[in-house]
Amino acid sequence: MFENLSERLSGVFDRLTKQGALSEEDVKTALREVRVALLEADVSLPVARDFVKKVQDQATGQAVTKSVTPGQQVVKIVHDALVDVLRGEGDPGKLKIDTPPAPILMVGLQGSGKTTTTAKLAKRLKDRDGKRVLMASLDTNRPAAMEQLAILGNQIGVDTLPIVKGEDPVAIAKRAKTQASLGGYDVYMLDTAGRLHIDQELIQQAADVRDVVKPRETLLVVDGLTGQDAVNVATEFDDKIGVTGVVLTRMDGDGRGGAALSMRAVTGKPIRFVGLGEKMDALETFEPDRIAGRILG
Ligand code: GDP
Repeated sequence: MFENLSERLSGVFDRLTKQGALSEEDVKTALREVRVALLEADVSLPVARDFVKKVQDQATGQAVTKSVTPGQQVVKIVHDALVDVLRGEGDPGKLKIDTPPAPILMVGLQGSGKTTTTAKLAKRLKDRDGKRVLMASLDTNRPAAMEQLAILGNQIGVDTLPIVKGEDPVAIAKRAKTQASLGGYDVYMLDTAGRLHIDQELIQQAADVRDVVKPRETLLVVDGLTGQDAVNVATEFDDKIGVTGVVLTRMDGDGRGGAALSMRAVTGKPIRFVGLGEKMDALETFEPDRIAGRILG
């Protein structure tokens, strides 16, 4: 087992003479360790470098508090700085769904957990916020994916738009919109097609649907274990379609959560929710504090 960062830093500081304030040299030494910890947590190199530089300026010259060791103090400074970067504006769990029927567009690569997340979020909106939700799958290339959403809908007690064979995604989106208005739904969620890689057709399709429904939220679902790839995917989706938030899935896995930091730093998009398992209630509002703790190990 590796020691965690806190222990490592205490070790570093034990070797340094105790002073009244954190000297530039102390901070530099500590931040070398921090940088390694960030890289081990799968934060991308440029993001780790920028972050460490920012913290260095902040930490140098800070008075050492009596109650904690300099190592603990640097960890706290780093922790707070992480939370600062990770936190978006406003409440991540609050979606813009005030005017019914509010469209939510779900986008992401195949296998990212998009369909599961669509259903989890629908359940959350129904159970917590008392919303009437309609879900529709636009994945016309994969009938199994459309079926999967219908099965999940049944399981959680959320309506899905009936599947009509041969309809294209834009037509399905229009039908969902009409059905949502006529049926008095508060929210309709569109689970767009996924692919293994981003391709022109996928992007075009999502853009066409976006133009038709004008979503209130466009949530990108990405696998939190894919690190830098997740960040590249987010950048591309945001450039081409425009996303309002990110859902990181598989945060129940072994990953240290560094993708969250890279994601925020590179795309500037808020992380709204995290997926913590396969079950329908394994979705939580993103909490910067918890991820920061996890990144620091
Ligand atoms: P899609 O192709 O993007 O729609 O992906 P799916 O929603 O079908 O999910 C792919 C697999 O990942 C399924 O087996 C899900 O149960 C699983 N999955 C989705 N989200 C999570 C998560 O947060 N944690 C874990 N452990 N598994 C997840």
